[in-house]
Amino acid sequence: MSDSFRADDSFQPPPELLEAWHSIPEIVKIGYPTLRQVAQPVARITREIRDIVEVMMDIMERARGLGLAAPQIGLPYRLFIYNMGEGVKVMINPELLELTGEQLGPEGCLSIPGLIGDVPRANELRIKAYDIRGRMVSRKVSELEARVIQHENDHLDGVLFIDKAIPETLEWHYGSTDEDNAESDEREPPKTRHKKRRRGK
Ligand SMILES: [Zn+2]
Repeated sequence: MSDSFRADDSFQPPPELLEAWHSIPEIVKIGYPTLRQVAQPVARITREIRDIVEVMMDIMERARGLGLAAPQIGLPYRLFIYNMGEGVKVMINPELLELTGEQLGPEGCLSIPGLIGDVPRANELRIKAYDIRGRMVSRKVSELEARVIQHENDHLDGVLFIDKAIPETLEWHYGSTDEDNAESDEREPPKTRHKKRRRGK
């Protein structure tokens, strides 16, 4: 069954998940074109870009997500935001460098709500990007933060976590409580094997 997750982006969630799937309609779901496009660099941080970032922050908070990339709201820009509990970080035209080490852990995605699978990722990396004020930032990160950044950065290249997940581990999670809904991506993984749980806000 898990092979179908990779073979065809038009798959629909199980009926039990339909409500969660559509609960935040601003987030586009798998099958929407921007999720499979290579996004364009942001040429200038204009008022429009700042407005987009504000909208994304609001959506991410409502979704209780750890991260959100512009293609997930249908905009093909190289820009994502994330929040590890220390405030929202904005990454514009990001570049990932010095990827080292390995980690394996569960991921989900706000664009495929309810689906969880184990994804191998680099354990450490450096991210260089511009912040919302156009300043170059360079951060060395590891573990869950590195995982979130790799997941979001993949969105800018039209890559979804299901492309990289170990196929046999991909499974729908039917929990419909608020608690369970908070388990994706982008959201805190259900049983993180690396760190104590830190639910976004
Ligand atoms: Zn995602």
